[in-house]
Amino acid sequence: MPIAAEDLLHPTPSGLYCPEGNFFVDPHRPVERAVITHGHADHARPGHAHVLATPETLGLMQIRYGDGAGGRLQALPYGEALNINGVRLRLTPAGHVLGSAQAVIEHGGTRIVVSGDYKRRRDPTCTGFEPVACDVFITEATFALPVFRHPDDADEVARLLASVATFPGRTHLVGAYALGKAQRLIALLRAAGWDKPVWLHGAAVKLTDWYRAQGIGLGDVRPVTAADKGDLAGGIVVAPPSALADRWSRRLSDPVTCFASGWMRVRARARQRGVELPLVISDHADWDELTRTVAEIAPGELWVTHGRDDALIHWAHAQGIPARPLALVGRGEDNDDG
Ligand SMILES: [Zn+2]
Ligand SMILES: [Zn+2]
Repeated sequence: MPIAAEDLLHPTPSGLYCPEGNFFVDPHRPVERAVITHGHADHARPGHAHVLATPETLGLMQIRYGDGAGGRLQALPYGEALNINGVRLRLTPAGHVLGSAQAVIEHGGTRIVVSGDYKRRRDPTCTGFEPVACDVFITEATFALPVFRHPDDADEVARLLASVATFPGRTHLVGAYALGKAQRLIALLRAAGWDKPVWLHGAAVKLTDWYRAQGIGLGDVRPVTAADKGDLAGGIVVAPPSALADRWSRRLSDPVTCFASGWMRVRARARQRGVELPLVISDHADWDELTRTVAEIAPGELWVTHGRDDALIHWAHAQGIPARPLALVGRGEDNDDG
C-alpha cells in the first residue's frame, strides 16, 4: 500500500515537513534541513543549518543574506534527483523568478509536488513551469479569485511606453519588486523596443547584476545615481515599491508613479498607494492559470497554501478533486511580491 500523503508531508509550526526525509520545504523558522523553492523572503528565510535549492536560488540567498544564507548550501539543478534518507527529491521549473522550482517529493509509491509560487505565461528571465503528474499538488492561491485575470504583459508595457511618449518631460518611476519583477519588466521593455538606458534604484542593482551574470540579457541598465536630471526627463526608473512614496523620488523630474503588480487589478490599491499608472504585471498565476494548471495536472488531491484559498477549493470540489487549505504561517506576507 502506498504511504499516505499526510505521512509523507504535512504542515507543522515551522512549515511543511517530510519526516521520512527529515527536511522542511520553505520553512518559516530556522531548521536543520531546508529545501527552498525560490529566493523570495516569504519562502527563503535565513539561518537554516543545511539548505538545498537550485544554484540560482542559492546565489540569490547569498546576495540577500550573506553568511546568513545557511550553514551548508547544496545546489540541486533542475531535473537531477537526490535520495534523502530514502525519499526521492527533484526540483523542476516553476516559472516564477530566476531559479524558482517546484519540489517533487516521492516515497513509497506516493508523489507530492510543492509548487512554491508559479505562473504559466512566458517570462524571458526564467525557465517556464513544467507540470508534473502527482498524487498531491500543493498550490499557491495569491490571485485565486475569478476577478484576477492578468492581461497580456506586452499590452501593459505598451501602455507604459505610450505614457512615456505622451509626457516626454516627465520621469516614469515604476515600482517593481526587486527580485524577479524588476528584471522581468526590463526584459519586457527591451522586447517592446525600448533601447534607451533603464535607470535602476540601488536596492535592485545587486540582484539585477546577478541575473545578468546568469546570462539574462537586459541591455543598458544603469544605477540612477549615475544619471543627471536631464537624463531622467523622459526616462524610465525602476525602483522597489517601497521607494515610490519616500523622499528619494522627489529628486526625479515630475515623476509619473507606476506600479507593476497583479494587485494593480484592484483600483483601490492603486489609489491607496498614489499610483498614477497601474500596470497589471504579475509573477503569480491568475485565476485562469491556476485552474488550467490544476485541470492539466489532475492531481489526486489539491492542497492550497496561501492566499484566497476558498474559491479555488470550491472550484476543485466542483471538478471532483478533493482539496483542502494548509494555511501556512508567514506565507505571502510581503504583498509587494505580486
Ligand atoms: Zn515568490
Ligand atoms: Zn510567496
